[in-house]
Amino acid sequence: MTNPHQFDVLVIGGGPAGIAAAVCAAECGSRTGIVDDNPSLGGQIWRSSTEHSPATEAAEWYVRLQKAGVTVLSATRVFDQPAPGVLFAESCEELLELRYSKLILATGARERFLPFPGWTLPNVMGAGGLQAMVKSGLPIRGKRVVVAGTGPLLLAVASYLKDHGAEVPIICEQASYGRLARFAIALWNQPTKISQSLQLKRTLSGATFAPGSWVTAAHGRATLESVMISRAGRPETIPCDYLACGFHLVPNIELPQLLGCQIRSGFVQVDNLQQTSSANVFCAGEPTSIGGIELSLTEGQIAGLAAADRADEARKLFSERKKAQRFARALDRAFQLRHDLKKLAAPETLVCRCEDVGFGRLQSHKGWRSAKLHTRCGMGPCQGRICGPATQFLFDWTPDSVRPPVFPVRVESMATARTAAHPTDKGSE
Ligand SMILES: Cc1cc2nc3c(=O)[nH]c(=O)nc-3n(C[C@H](O)[C@H](O)[C@H](O)COP(=O)(O)OP(=O)(O)OC[C@H]3O[C@@H](n4cnc5c(N)ncnc54)[C@H](O)[C@@H]3O)c2cc1C
Repeated sequence: MTNPHQFDVLVIGGGPAGIAAAVCAAECGSRTGIVDDNPSLGGQIWRSSTEHSPATEAAEWYVRLQKAGVTVLSATRVFDQPAPGVLFAESCEELLELRYSKLILATGARERFLPFPGWTLPNVMGAGGLQAMVKSGLPIRGKRVVVAGTGPLLLAVASYLKDHGAEVPIICEQASYGRLARFAIALWNQPTKISQSLQLKRTLSGATFAPGSWVTAAHGRATLESVMISRAGRPETIPCDYLACGFHLVPNIELPQLLGCQIRSGFVQVDNLQQTSSANVFCAGEPTSIGGIELSLTEGQIAGLAAADRADEARKLFSERKKAQRFARALDRAFQLRHDLKKLAAPETLVCRCEDVGFGRLQSHKGWRSAKLHTRCGMGPCQGRICGPATQFLFDWTPDSVRPPVFPVRVESMATARTAAHPTDKGSE
């Protein structure tokens, strides 16, 4: 392990929220670092545009980040906090000790997956996951892709895939017409959202958008060949090469939980200045609510300013945040999961794909802990990141407390971290 890195403000997560937080803190004169587990900054939305053709908005933030002298630690994943003010992170080469006075958690969100027969077949992918693979070079031209699940990400992904030559026969959105209509009304005073929707409508011409429909099964021998959907209560089979499927987003709250931040209804609780219940720990972006890039950017700026003791400047952004929060609430109402989705899995359908645990084996358990102890559900490499939110929806289970490491790490890193944290411990356990 190299010498500890010391920061006034340390930001975990290099998406829009983290970048905005780091820029604001550094521009106020704080010695600031930003850590992200990907090779380049940008988070889910800006990542691929970082090096070659940055999106205009992203480019402006990257310039400010560089000018403000923020230390960027890419391809580095934070996995433990041995003591307040100290974090352990692992890069490809080494274990790092990161010390901070103020910490900003901007760890983003991931897609939610729900099990249905055939969901583990090759070429059934997360919607954002398939988009990321295409961004990294997966050829999609001429492929037939069914996009399904729920949430605005489906439209963004369908539009991206169409732009790159895929045929998108249908977008199955489980939310009903009624909910979507109310969502559209809620956007009436958000001109940016309206113009984004119109732009999507144009790119998606030719693809059927089917509210109140969802995939009931995926079929294929070695790989996906077709999906069965329920549309207006009737089954339909659609031949396809890929299924891009995701059920809105789940916040990444494992690190905030490890740090003792209070969680309510699955989100990190923050005050007006984005301060969590843990001293000197702030949180911004999707871990506090799923509200799109505008909310992430605004919360990031408020957290960065507040962490740099510029509360007065942060307060000037409160009205902007309030507007973006209205959008987050509208999203939450519109894309609530319907009860029918709880009935898709058959007894043999895998719920925990890391440990091969089927739906039938979980049904007799009363809660997450019992299921974990008896079936190993949630104990594989993803540590419940996929099956946790699925079982929460299917069975109303609340996941257990979080223990380090929050991500799988090399045994060597764990051992070194342990020795550094407990120098007198002879490793008796
Ligand atoms: C798969 C996916 C695809 C999406 N695609 C689109 C899209 O095409 N268009 C759109 O408008 N919106 C998209 N979104 C939504 C978009 O991510 C949000 O609107 C917003 O940009 C989130 O910004 P953020 O900074 O809060 O989080 P993110 O952009 O998610 O950034 C969080 C970052 O923190 C990193 N991180 C998390 N934990 C750690 C750790 N312990 N150590 C180090 N790094 C860590 C993550 O890897 C990530 O890079 C997508 C979301 C997902 C999940």
